[in-house]
Amino acid sequence: MEFTILYRGSLKSCNFHCAYCPFAWKKIVHQDLETDKAGISRFIEFIENSQHHYRILFTPYGEAMIHAYYREAMVRLSKLPNVIKVAVQTNGSFSVTADDWLDRIAADTAAFWLSFHPEQISLEQFTNQYQALLDRNLRFSCGVVGIKTNIPTIRQLRATLPQFVYMWINAYKRWHGYYTDKEIEELVLLDPLFNNNLHYYPSRGHICRTGQEIFSVDEKGDIRRCHFVDTIIGNISENDMANLHCSPHCPNDTCHCHIGYIYLPELHQHSIYGDGMLERIPCQYKMG
Ligand code: SF4
Ligand code: SF4
Repeated sequence: MEFTILYRGSLKSCNFHCAYCPFAWKKIVHQDLETDKAGISRFIEFIENSQHHYRILFTPYGEAMIHAYYREAMVRLSKLPNVIKVAVQTNGSFSVTADDWLDRIAADTAAFWLSFHPEQISLEQFTNQYQALLDRNLRFSCGVVGIKTNIPTIRQLRATLPQFVYMWINAYKRWHGYYTDKEIEELVLLDPLFNNNLHYYPSRGHICRTGQEIFSVDEKGDIRRCHFVDTIIGNISENDMANLHCSPHCPNDTCHCHIGYIYLPELHQHSIYGDGMLERIPCQYKMG
C-alpha cells in the first residue's frame, strides 16, 4: 500500500529570528537534538523495513536542514526503493556544499518547500540557495508569508524566479479582514492560488483523507491522523498503518494549513497539485 507521512520530531529551534515565530529565539539544547536525532533514526529504520511505499514530508517546528542528521535523512530516504517522495519544509539557509549532500540526494524522489524570510536573508542569498537546487534538477516550490510589509519583496521574488517555479503566498490570517480587496487582487496575480490559502475551512464532520492513508508521525513514532488532531492512534513500532483507520470525518472546527486542507476531498486540491501536493507544486509548473 501507499502512505503519506507528515513527520514532525521534537525539534523546536531555528537559526532565524522571525518576529512572529515562537521558535525564533529558542536555544538549541544538545539533549533535545539527541532525542530528535534518535527519533529520525528510528523513523528511517521503520521505512527501510516496511513493505509499504511512502511519500514523506518533514514539517519541523524550526529549521531542520541546518542539522547534518536531517540532511543525511533526506539523502538516505531519497534512495530507498519504497520511498516515492521525500520533501522538507525549510527556510533555505542550509549549506549547499556540506558533505556533498545535495549532490548525493536522489533528484527523482527529493523535493523542497522553501520559505523565504526577507527580514532574515537577502533576496540574493535566497536566490543562490534555490539556484543550487535548480543546478541539480531538484524540485521545489518557494514562497513567503503575505504580511503587508513583505508585498514589495514578494513582487521582487516573483520577478526573479524562473516562470516554471511556483511561488506560493501564505495568507496572514491572524486578523480577520487583514487584506483589502485590492491587496487580494494583487496577491492573486502573484500567486494564482492565494485564494485557496486565505480561508479557515469549516471542517468538523467533513470527510478528510487523513487517518486512512495519510498520517502524522512524531519522534517517538507515535501516529496521529494529522498534525492538528492530537489523538494518538498507534505507533510505528507496533502498528501496521494498513490496519489503522480513523473516522473519515474531521473532529476539528476548521482547517487552514495547506498540509491539512489539501486532504479535504471537497476542495479538489488533488486536481490542482497532482503528485506535487507535499512540496506544493501545482501540476502546471513543470520542474525536474
Ligand atoms: S524561519 Fe520559520 S521556524 Fe525559523 S524563526 Fe522564521 S518562521 Fe520561525
Ligand atoms: S480537515 Fe484538517 S484538521 Fe481535520 S482531520 Fe483533516 S487535516 Fe486534520
